[in-house]
Amino acid sequence: MRMLGLALVLTAATAAADTPTRIPERAIPIAEALRDRALAGTPAFDIVEDLTTTVGPRLPGSQADARAVAWAVAKFKALGFDRVWTEPVTIPVWRRGHARAEVVGAFAQPLVITALGGSVGTDGALEAEIAEFPTLQALREAPEGSLAGKIAFISNRMERFIDGSGYGPAVVARSNGAVEAARLGAKAIVIRSIGTNSARFPHTGNMRYVDDVPKIPAAALSNPDADQLLRLLARGQPVRLRLDFEAGTIGEHTTHNVIGEITGRERPDEVVVIGAHLDSWDLGTGALDDGAGIAITMAAGALIGQLDKTQRPRRSVRVIAWGAEEIGLLGAYAYAARHADAITRHLIGAESDFGAGRIYALRAGVKDSAWDAIERIGQVLAPLGIVTERGVGGPGPDIIPLAQRGMAWAQLAQDGSDYFDYHHTPDDTLDKIDPEALDQQVAAYAAFAYLAAEAEGDFGSAPREAVQNR
Ligand SMILES: [Zn+2]
Repeated sequence: MRMLGLALVLTAATAAADTPTRIPERAIPIAEALRDRALAGTPAFDIVEDLTTTVGPRLPGSQADARAVAWAVAKFKALGFDRVWTEPVTIPVWRRGHARAEVVGAFAQPLVITALGGSVGTDGALEAEIAEFPTLQALREAPEGSLAGKIAFISNRMERFIDGSGYGPAVVARSNGAVEAARLGAKAIVIRSIGTNSARFPHTGNMRYVDDVPKIPAAALSNPDADQLLRLLARGQPVRLRLDFEAGTIGEHTTHNVIGEITGRERPDEVVVIGAHLDSWDLGTGALDDGAGIAITMAAGALIGQLDKTQRPRRSVRVIAWGAEEIGLLGAYAYAARHADAITRHLIGAESDFGAGRIYALRAGVKDSAWDAIERIGQVLAPLGIVTERGVGGPGPDIIPLAQRGMAWAQLAQDGSDYFDYHHTPDDTLDKIDPEALDQQVAAYAAFAYLAAEAEGDFGSAPREAVQNR
């Protein structure tokens, strides 16, 4: 996942006389039955087991990414979705090769690193003294030219919170560090991994260049390796690093969003969106990020699809497996652009992209007159240990482009206490997933999507000028 510090709240632009949105009472027992059926066991774990075993890591634009698209089409069909289709997304293709790093000189020793996504390589070995900064901001404040010929090192440590809120303040070093260091003359940058683990795994993740600043190689050190460098620097002598890694953007490719839909009984053109991203980084198998979300939302949609025709929700439930999330929400931006004229028909959307921990809160960005309906949905989720929280939260990353265009959103907030121990590392693998926790989330997504699709009235989705935030 990629989280922006963005809290979108729909303003009550609608007329004061707006009729409150209601969840019809006859829908409640059906939603409760969906919820309880999910708790008795769902195919979610089998879905993520299959994706992570037969496809494995799914770097956007890779051969495995194409296999993942074919896998998702086949899985939606096998799960009984009424309509299954793909939509193209044009993306840059980035690849990594080997990565080596070592301290040279009196303290010579190897370190564990990985290239950041989007980085260029070192073009052979590159050796220089390191200059350490505790934060990106401290680096920005360094004098002009002060990093000439050096390797910048940002040592900030991400803090652990249940909601992952330590990520935003820390991740700017990954996203923007290379540009800021290059402006001051640095030859390369290494950062402490944006992660909360103490395992010797570096965390990859996307970084950016800008056109008028030299593109310097950027890599992440594992947390223990960053600690080691700090201890060496504390000895008071210059520390030199040799970096040697291959990475680079190798062209353009077309990948796909994959969409499965359960057709609504009355207004099939209106949709409730749930989903997750199909791509992953290349180091692990993308089990937590975001195979779990794919499994949860596919299983939730499938459960709704198994309802008797007369019990089908009024509107359609659309499950989107977004492509190329990790390299900048590219599938989500493509979807939002393609469906820009249909924002009003996108009733509300929610994405599962925060690992496999249980859901503990329902939050939403909806018009005021729809809040009672959110509360009613929350009452059905309450037995799952889920509280309804107003005025906080934000949409999942792939929902952001739609929310920027005016779609209402919901967030089924997961316990992410250990999410950043594994995020974007070789350790993001299936064994970290508890099948019962997945079923709790399928229960929540199925009940949420069903009830939202049954609503009398809407949640406030209305076209708004698209804000480009990239
Ligand atoms: Zn993700």
